[in-house]
Amino acid sequence: MTENANEFFSVASELKAELEPLGKKYYIETYGCQMNVRDSETIGGLLQSCGYTLADNKNESDLILFNTCCIRDHAEKRVFGNIGALKEAKEAHPSMIIGVCGCMMEQDNVAKKLQRRFPFVDLVFGTNVLHRLPEMIKHVLEGDRVCLLSNNDVTVVEGLPSVRDVSTSAYVNIMYGCNNFCSYCIVPYVRGRERSRSVDAIVNEIEQLVSKGYTEITLLGQNVNSYGNDTRSSSFAELLTVLNQIEGLKRIRFMSSHPKDLSDAVIDAIRNNPKVCHHVHLPVQSGSDRILKAMNRKYTREQYLDIVHKLRSVSHDFELTTDVIVGFPGETEDDFLQTLSLIKEVGYSAAFTFKYSKRQGTKAATMEEQVDEAEKKLRLKRLNDLQAEMTVTDNMKYIDHIGEVLVEGYDQRETCTVFGKLSNFKMVYFRGDPDLVGKYVNVRITACKKNSLIGEIV
Ligand code: SF4
Repeated sequence: MTENANEFFSVASELKAELEPLGKKYYIETYGCQMNVRDSETIGGLLQSCGYTLADNKNESDLILFNTCCIRDHAEKRVFGNIGALKEAKEAHPSMIIGVCGCMMEQDNVAKKLQRRFPFVDLVFGTNVLHRLPEMIKHVLEGDRVCLLSNNDVTVVEGLPSVRDVSTSAYVNIMYGCNNFCSYCIVPYVRGRERSRSVDAIVNEIEQLVSKGYTEITLLGQNVNSYGNDTRSSSFAELLTVLNQIEGLKRIRFMSSHPKDLSDAVIDAIRNNPKVCHHVHLPVQSGSDRILKAMNRKYTREQYLDIVHKLRSVSHDFELTTDVIVGFPGETEDDFLQTLSLIKEVGYSAAFTFKYSKRQGTKAATMEEQVDEAEKKLRLKRLNDLQAEMTVTDNMKYIDHIGEVLVEGYDQRETCTVFGKLSNFKMVYFRGDPDLVGKYVNVRITACKKNSLIGEIV
């Protein structure tokens, strides 16, 4: 089901007339992945439609929102600690609104636990009801305590406002939710099943971004390769081809890609559409077939390597990044060695590595043979040491290479140093004026650091 945002704006305009003259301010603290960053941009847009302006810090805010994530270890402890620290501020300013949202609130009982422990929290809401924020704020201002979760809400709402964080590159959701149920992951339980946006809505949003000066977009989804499966309309490969036609758009990135759904059609779309960047984030998680099966990843090591070879054939500078979990239940030394050998074989430019940790409600949390914590720590170190070597080796091959960099910002610590990325996601630092930010510059690579390249303008 798709709804339009118009009906929510009548409540927002009512609030704006009341709140704007009072100079009310908001602050959002965001935890977690790009999906949450993008959600916070929408929340900021909605709050501004209600008459709030962005505060520089929490202390001067009339409304503070914690946009939480449940994927990382100890996430709950950290968020609860930061909410608890606001108790005195709330006592001193009872009219201040404190809210908590994001996927952690959709986990079993977390919202209830939070409300019991922090009676001063006014507002709790889930990931799929952002569009109802004006209505929720109205109720809070009338003195109610609001809790609105969204497990069964499958609405895609178009036309919501946004406050974008970065001025050169923008995130664009193409779908929400996930159908995959990897055995360690909580996302399908807290974000619901896959819902794809229409091609028209995506094109419309990107054209608006281009008209505001954005030239690079990153398409977001838990598994972008299954875009359109739910609506049986355009596939992800077809979407890339359509987006490649947008005038003024220069770069298209996407994440994340589930290897089991990365089809030849998607690889052809990457090859044939020059705006699609030469980088794929392709989470492998393990190099052992036995562990991949236990993780319910639905591909084998061989199938994964086959996709890697096809992607590498797109261009000589094609780069891959990945996610790896060590110490998954039942992982033996032999399984782990297979992960290390896969890391060597693929030669990723970077890997995001994690020790397995239980997520309540997932299948893996109940598996026997949980790996000892000290062993997990040791494996993580061995993996990180290897990847660090691989990253340096990968970076070295760029010396003397000339490539186009989109300048994202300037280094505050070093004068006249700017940074940005090549199409293949390699970060490059080089001498240049801050007014280059947002521009494309040809750079020759002259040296490399641990995680980045050094260059000079040609
Ligand atoms: S694909 Fe697997 S790891 Fe990724 S969000 Fe879905 S269930 Fe989680």
